[in-house]
Amino acid sequence: MEHQRPKILIVDDRPENLFALEQTLKPLNASLTRATSGEEALSQVLRQQFALILMDVQMPDMDGFETVSLMRDYDETKNVPVIFVTAISKESKFVEQGYESGAVDYLFKPIAPNILLSKVKVFLELENQRIALERAINANKELAAHNETVLDCIVEGIVSFSGKGMIDWANPTALRLLEMTLQQIECLSLFDLFHHTNSKPSSDWSYFEEFKEFKGPNNHVHIRNSDHLLKRQNFTTFPVEFSISGFSNNIQEGGVFSFQDITKRKWTENELVRLAQEDSLTQLPNRALFHEFLRVSIQERIRDNGNLALLMLDMDDFKRVNDTLGHDVGDLLLQSVSSRLEKSLRQGDLVARLGGDEFGIILPKIRQSDDAGRVAKKVLESFTQPHQLGNYTLTIGASIGITTFPEGGTNIQALIKSADTAMYHAKGLGRNNFQFFSKEMQNRVVAKDTLEKELVVALEERQFVSFFQPKIDTNGSLIGYEALVRWNHPTRGLVFPNDFIPLVEETGLVIELGKQMLEMACRQNKDWIDRGIVSPSTTVAVNVSVRQLADKKLVDTIKTVLTNTQLPASCLEVEITEYTMMNDVEQAIIVLNKLRDLGIKIAIDDFGTGYSSLTYLSKLPLNSLKVDQYFVNGIGNDKGDESIVKATINLAHSLHLEVTAEGVETNLQREFLIENSVNFLQGYLFSKPQSAENLEQWIIENTSSNILNMTAV
Ligand code: C2E
Ligand code: MG
Ligand code: MG
Repeated sequence: MEHQRPKILIVDDRPENLFALEQTLKPLNASLTRATSGEEALSQVLRQQFALILMDVQMPDMDGFETVSLMRDYDETKNVPVIFVTAISKESKFVEQGYESGAVDYLFKPIAPNILLSKVKVFLELENQRIALERAINANKELAAHNETVLDCIVEGIVSFSGKGMIDWANPTALRLLEMTLQQIECLSLFDLFHHTNSKPSSDWSYFEEFKEFKGPNNHVHIRNSDHLLKRQNFTTFPVEFSISGFSNNIQEGGVFSFQDITKRKWTENELVRLAQEDSLTQLPNRALFHEFLRVSIQERIRDNGNLALLMLDMDDFKRVNDTLGHDVGDLLLQSVSSRLEKSLRQGDLVARLGGDEFGIILPKIRQSDDAGRVAKKVLESFTQPHQLGNYTLTIGASIGITTFPEGGTNIQALIKSADTAMYHAKGLGRNNFQFFSKEMQNRVVAKDTLEKELVVALEERQFVSFFQPKIDTNGSLIGYEALVRWNHPTRGLVFPNDFIPLVEETGLVIELGKQMLEMACRQNKDWIDRGIVSPSTTVAVNVSVRQLADKKLVDTIKTVLTNTQLPASCLEVEITEYTMMNDVEQAIIVLNKLRDLGIKIAIDDFGTGYSSLTYLSKLPLNSLKVDQYFVNGIGNDKGDESIVKATINLAHSLHLEVTAEGVETNLQREFLIENSVNFLQGYLFSKPQSAENLEQWIIENTSSNILNMTAV
């Protein structure tokens, strides 16, 4: 392209000379510009950049020397090389004048074209180099500007430093984060930027623990760290994550320090830690923190041979508040209780919400167990004040169990268990009191543990057997039997349900036990019916407990057992205590309806002890009602019991339910019951619960005779 060819200005007042020069220079592929006077030459020179000027010395108005010396006055033109072309004598005085005015060379006319060409070539070559250099410089400048823009855009603060740690540069982000100017930061060393928590700042790399490996430049160690604080100009600090790497090149030794403000991240991290350890409703420590605090406290007491106390607190009847006034009021109550608990404690003690209405208190250091008793008393006293919750004023009690380290246990689990045991004991003693965990309680806990383990084995090994107790009608005919579980214990012999049913129920093992009993009962009844031992309508009654009733699979389990044993559904009756039904009436209604749809009979057991309302009784799909043996027992010696029995029978009949009296032991009871229209009778008077084998014998012996008459003798 035209503008890339080097330019030569030829100046001569005589056109033929100009023409001759042009002809000579043609082979050079340069761009030639003419000027016929000094003035014209000047104006050309100011307009464009020439690689070389060939200047005639003798010109009419302004001669060559004058022109060149004027050119030397301007920055833009003073460096342009000039070769004088002259016909004047070669006397040295002219030549000197030419060099003085800034010429680089001299040529005399007539000019030998070869010489001219080779001289001009040198200058063109120089010009090419100059252009290349200028381009390189420009490119460099652009690169530097670009780099600067890039550094400006970086969100990390970047600081470079010399081998001694003196800061020599910082990017805008670094300056913004540190609230410093470049001048301010350039007076500092890298170490001045750090907030030093201990002793005086050192400029030694080893000042920072993690810098120890970093022996300065040339080391190329990368250090990443997020535990330090940097200082702003105003001495406030902020947490950073930073990295440092050293470098050394032939210009300098130094390093680069880059950092990020992690204030936000730290805050989030801390917040997460806080949330993970806090109960969101009450802002008390949660179970996780409670465990951790207990763990640490135990370790401390092991070290100093001291004592600590653990209190478990459970609010009395909190569920009722929730159920009757709603969860919002329940929540307010929990918050109010929490703040009272906090106020009852000393600094250093910890109260945590462990879930629901359960709180745990740790007194990490006590002198004697009385200390814990005093705290419990104070807490209970704080509970006597009513809570003002919006429009409601409520008073609620609490039961507290106390255990101490090391007496009540030497690890977290043992301590929590013993405190819980004491708390349940307090609840059992009528609530709103506190109880210390005792050795006797501990023995009970151990015994319970052992029993639980044994029960698991017993279920696996099928040590449970079903006994059967006959039920007869008022004509003395056998109408069915109740299946009652017995534990055929390998060493203790026959164990009765009262000794294990509560624990079986508590542990949930009752689900499996119930299944086994159901199978045994149905299979046995089917067998007796098939073999004609009993009539085809004989019913076997099986007891179903709270946990079983709550079990989603109960109906399916019963269906499967009926299918497997081929017993007609009408030959199976379930007995559910009044208490069990009332525990969750809604659930009872759902499950019982399903069982009734299958054709199974349903009896309400131990009636008279569970405070059921008439409304519910009429809603439940019941077939019969069993008067509790407690009232039957009173017949003949307690008028009150007698009227209850009468009233119960009447009530049942008005609801179209049949009535069974259980626990019939005497003829007097039998007569009273029959007189008052009871439908069925069950009790020792006729037969105790017996093993299947024995009962079979009993049935065979008694079917021909009237059981009523026989036993009445
Ligand atoms: P329950 O269902 O009310 O059973 C009646 C209890 O009264 C039985 O006690 C029975 O042996 C006893 N009994 C019967 N007639 C007389 C009598 O004339 N006088 C006296 N004093 N007692 C009589 P058992 O077998 O010890 O069972 C106690 C309770 O254990 C049962 O009361 C029932 O609630 C529960 N239970 C028994 N077997 C099972 C079972 O397989 N599953 C479940 N979930 N509970 C069962
Ligand atoms: Mg029963
Ligand atoms: Mg009963």
